[in-house]
Amino acid sequence: MTLSTALAWAIDLLAVLLLALGLKGLSKVRSARSANGLAALAMGLAVLGLLIQQPLSAVAWLWIVIGSAVGGLAGLVMARRVPMTAMPETVALFNGCGGMASLLVALGVALFGAGEAGLVEGISIVISVFVGAITFTGSLVAMGKLQGWIDTPGWTQSQVRHGVNIALAVAALVGAFSLPADPAGAGLWLLLLAASLLGIGVTLPIGGADMPVVISLLNSYSGVAAAAAGFVVGSPLLIVAGAMVGAAGLILTQVMCTAMNRSLLNVLFGGALGGGGGGPVGGGGDEAGYTRITSCSAEECALALENAERVVFVPGYGLAVAQAQHALRELAKLLEANGTEVTYAIHPVAGRMPGHMNVLLAEADVPYEQLVEMDAINPEFPRTDVVIVLGANDVVNPDAKTDSSSPLYGMPVLEVDQARQVFVVKRSLGAGYAGIKNALFELPQTAMVFGDAKVVLNGLASELRDLGFGKKTAA
Ligand code: NDP
Repeated sequence: MTLSTALAWAIDLLAVLLLALGLKGLSKVRSARSANGLAALAMGLAVLGLLIQQPLSAVAWLWIVIGSAVGGLAGLVMARRVPMTAMPETVALFNGCGGMASLLVALGVALFGAGEAGLVEGISIVISVFVGAITFTGSLVAMGKLQGWIDTPGWTQSQVRHGVNIALAVAALVGAFSLPADPAGAGLWLLLLAASLLGIGVTLPIGGADMPVVISLLNSYSGVAAAAAGFVVGSPLLIVAGAMVGAAGLILTQVMCTAMNRSLLNVLFGGALGGGGGGPVGGGGDEAGYTRITSCSAEECALALENAERVVFVPGYGLAVAQAQHALRELAKLLEANGTEVTYAIHPVAGRMPGHMNVLLAEADVPYEQLVEMDAINPEFPRTDVVIVLGANDVVNPDAKTDSSSPLYGMPVLEVDQARQVFVVKRSLGAGYAGIKNALFELPQTAMVFGDAKVVLNGLASELRDLGFGKKTAA
């Protein structure tokens, strides 16, 4: 073993360790930022290890420098510009890029070096092209749906789609089996085309509340494709990193499925198995259909807060849109100084990405111990005086428990309807992500406080100060 090879192996090992530490750190809000830095350092070391190991021509260096500069700049601009609320689309795009990268690596080897490929490499090429292509096109469709650029066509909700997808899977299989005879021939292109269309075919019908599961599944696929690409080019680092991403994505998918009370099969084949999930994406919805709405002003809501001993805030997507986390923290501080018990109910799929509400509230320095997960807070609602729902909709919809025709049916929700008084802060009676009516709004204990979450929260804080809360704080 040469010195450069030994050095490259040591760097690879260090990169794997840092990556594992990074993944572990990401599971806690407190350590997530530094963990992200560790993982980025691991990626940098991985590139360095590769450069040390491979003697490269000037042309190859040029390509690497140009690729790194363009990719790095694009990543930097996106990281700075993309708002938190658009993170799922961004993650979908990144997953797609990961799938495409693995696909291109495998294609490159298949086209220019498959003569030397053994059985393992051959199988890995097939997996990498197949999974990479599905990940790429599936992620682009997911991104398009989340952005509201792509609708769910009617035919995809019928059984026809299963016939189409099975035909595409068979075509991909035919392509894969013809590869040993002609590694760079028509079979390779058939595999690529069929898998690309299959990615569209399986993602297009999925909508409504099931999209988060699909995104994390595609994330897992991108890891599988990368691990397969690692076998293709003989890179242990890529195999380990890909396997970690694949496993982490799968665990996240499982966690999301459990949180939404869905089985993965039900999400992927919802139409056939009779589950929900085919609903529209992206919120909006119409305001018709409500007949018994009570609305009130911030002043009336503040009076209820004045007399409450126990208040639970329920943050949702709208709180993130309004960037009202700091205003919420200020209001909570006023209440706490007055002796009110304040907690925050966290639903696992509130917002638009896993952990969205935790990250949002952490930005405003809300103490972690006040964030209570759904299973722990639900039994507490009956003894809660006031619940304030802030830009949340689907995650508090009681129909999810009672109406078997609802697209949300079966998804565990925050049972705020059990509390004595509920105030829902949102701008209109518009629907949430699943695009459906919310029975909570018409319950007798519910009052709507219409307005932007930040404006309403600031108004509530000023009402409370008028009621003397600020003075009590100072005292
Ligand atoms: P919803 O999308 O159900 O509802 C959000 C509500 O926020 C809307 O009804 C909207 O009503 C309101 N809103 C928007 N802007 C503002 C504002 N400036 N001020 C006040 N209110 C505002 O959000 P939830 O958090 O309840 O549920 C999340 C949904 O997203 C679930 O269906 C989940 O499955 C899905 N999802 C979750 C992902 C995740 O990983 N967490 C990823 C992708 C989807 P109005 O317009 O009237 O103001």
